[in-house]
Amino acid sequence: MIRVCVVGAAGKMGQEVVRALIREQDLKLVGACDIQEVGKDAGVLASAVPLGVVIKKELEEVLEETSPQVVCDFTHAEALRKNFPIFVKHRMAMVIGTTGLTRDEIERMRHEVEKEGLGCVIAPNFAIGAVLMMHFARIAARFFPAVEIIEYHHLQKKDAPSGTALKTIEGMCLEGVSPSQSQELVPGSRGGLYQGVRVHSVRLPGFVAHQEVIFGGEGQILTIRHDSLSRSSFMPGVIMAIRKVCSEPKFYYGLESILGLV
Ligand code: NAD
Repeated sequence: MIRVCVVGAAGKMGQEVVRALIREQDLKLVGACDIQEVGKDAGVLASAVPLGVVIKKELEEVLEETSPQVVCDFTHAEALRKNFPIFVKHRMAMVIGTTGLTRDEIERMRHEVEKEGLGCVIAPNFAIGAVLMMHFARIAARFFPAVEIIEYHHLQKKDAPSGTALKTIEGMCLEGVSPSQSQELVPGSRGGLYQGVRVHSVRLPGFVAHQEVIFGGEGQILTIRHDSLSRSSFMPGVIMAIRKVCSEPKFYYGLESILGLV
């Protein structure tokens, strides 16, 4: 039985992780941390099933009282920056879905995890379809001279562009995509530029997490699109990551490193 603590347990993703854990025979929710819904049973909050796991505010207290093997962090970047040293201090295996960290911060976390010999998965997108989208985009980038990304998320999403968009671009740049040039009459109308690739972030109610990678070539357009229609789409990847950091504790960036795509 793998003992799991969910950090951000009252959030949209945290509650989804709690529901997913209830369905797995070999995983057990033992701890729940959040700054909201403190004092409530995490199981009742997520799915009206009492689990006897009360949401607490102080992360160190939760870790000390419940002795989890793995923490799943789905909070916000500023919270994760404070939580990460505590995870390391308590020698936790980590599954981190929180986005909004810079590449430098992720590299520093990699360094720390490897120095301490811990297990850690950081994945900006746990949906297997989204990971395949990134993989296909990387292949297509070898054959098309130009590409732009449009990503669509719900209104509450704090960071833009999405971690998935940034990671898609990082992957494609390895294959040598060339940047596009044009003059903007309205500032920002051509989107943001990251590593030479234009990225456009749409934030509207109704969306969950969606992305189009649009390649332009001579007389042709290739669009690779992925839609997460519900947050349950992330759960098979999260569950896979929890098992992997326990069975093979090392640093993994992106679900693709677990799926064997790199
Ligand atoms: P949310 O706002 O619904 O939930 C975040 C939760 O974290 C809230 O309940 C909040 O109270 C809690 N929190 C904030 N600071 C905290 C702290 N210091 N300690 C403990 N809890 C704290 O957001 P969400 O939609 O659930 O998304 C959470 C994160 O997951 C975001 O960064 C989002 O971009 C990311 N996300 C990742 C994936 C993926 O596949 N990797 C998918 C969806 C969302």
